[in-house]
Amino acid sequence: MSNKSLISVNDSFGAHNYHPLPIVISKAKDVWVWDVEGNKYMDMLSAYSALNQGHRNEYIIKKVKEQLNKVSLTSRAFHNDKLPLFLKKVCKFSGFEMALPMNTGAEAVETALKMARKWGYLKKKVAAGKAQIIVAENNFHGRTISIISFSTEKQYRDGFGPFTPGFKVVKYGDAGAIKKAINKNTVAVMLEPIQGEGGIIIPPKGYLKEVRKITRENKVLLMLDEIQTGLARTGKNFAYEWEQIKPDVLILGKALGGGVVPVSVVLASRSIMSVYKPGDHGSTFGGNPLASAAGIAALEYIEKHKLADRAQKLGEYFMKELRKIKSKHIQEVRGRGLLIGIELDTKARDYAEKLMQDGLLCKETHTRVLRFAPPLVITKDEIDWAMKRIQKVFEE
Ligand SMILES: *Cc1c(COP(=O)(O)O)cnc(C)c1O
Repeated sequence: MSNKSLISVNDSFGAHNYHPLPIVISKAKDVWVWDVEGNKYMDMLSAYSALNQGHRNEYIIKKVKEQLNKVSLTSRAFHNDKLPLFLKKVCKFSGFEMALPMNTGAEAVETALKMARKWGYLKKKVAAGKAQIIVAENNFHGRTISIISFSTEKQYRDGFGPFTPGFKVVKYGDAGAIKKAINKNTVAVMLEPIQGEGGIIIPPKGYLKEVRKITRENKVLLMLDEIQTGLARTGKNFAYEWEQIKPDVLILGKALGGGVVPVSVVLASRSIMSVYKPGDHGSTFGGNPLASAAGIAALEYIEKHKLADRAQKLGEYFMKELRKIKSKHIQEVRGRGLLIGIELDTKARDYAEKLMQDGLLCKETHTRVLRFAPPLVITKDEIDWAMKRIQKVFEE
């Protein structure tokens, strides 16, 4: 079938909750994908950073196939022999004491929110039903009703009320706003270290450090959502390392599944995690043996191939080259590691479509920002290949 006929079937039978670029991918390897008509493209979106290790990463696929030949799903009614190894691996990798496995990012965020509320009632003695969680404007943490309840993106909320109470939204990048918003019922502050969906917004230097200090002084949990920024994307294993801090709670997803299956976790200290008791929370697929095998392999690959260092070096090079482009439409090139945004004075979607015609896949975020976030296994030659196309589209 052709690209066009498959898109038409998709439009007939699928809900129209997305507006994808008109390409139908049928094959992929590392940074490359092919459509059903055999055209080859470079993937500079990486499924929003779920493909940090590249498409069909050989090592990860091998480990997942081995697991498929043993056992794929048990539920948590029983133990399985892969989950303990995954939990230990993700704790050692991140330096946290305990982990709670889920599947999607939104589920892990929900898990962290529930944990923070319960921690507030049990450990901070907040009055029943009063817990408050502070979040930032322009945030993206997923699409469940509770999560969109504190979104500031009009379309994410329109028509979906009533909303979950208990959240306070403050300006991103302003630690003083957090300090002012904290009261006796505040149990947590949840932030993205860099706002990815929000347009690759990097907060002012020292912001996270200051927020860390404020939350510690006020007995409030600092919870960082590194679903998009974590696992080597920004040139460190976790973006908070750029400010030499450590959150109380860390939320991971996306690349934790190695581009194969959804795997997410919430990480915390033993004392915080202990608020969860049997029956409090769960997931049928969370921590399944197949996901655990993928998660272990995903982390091993990041370590063994030093993907963080790679993202750091290649990201600097890529941004330096992007800044050389002469175009009156480019307002700013910003990013960290291989999470890069080009802010335009015009619609970014038009550029994404032109780049696609030249064999480069990327996506706009927030109308005027073009995001480049290739798999971290990309080579310098491949970045040069992409630069030729980007330069052409902007300079013609
Ligand atoms: C993608 C993302 C999520 C949601 O993850 P899903 O797997 O799509 O539910 C949450 N937070 C951030 C920062 C994300 O980038």
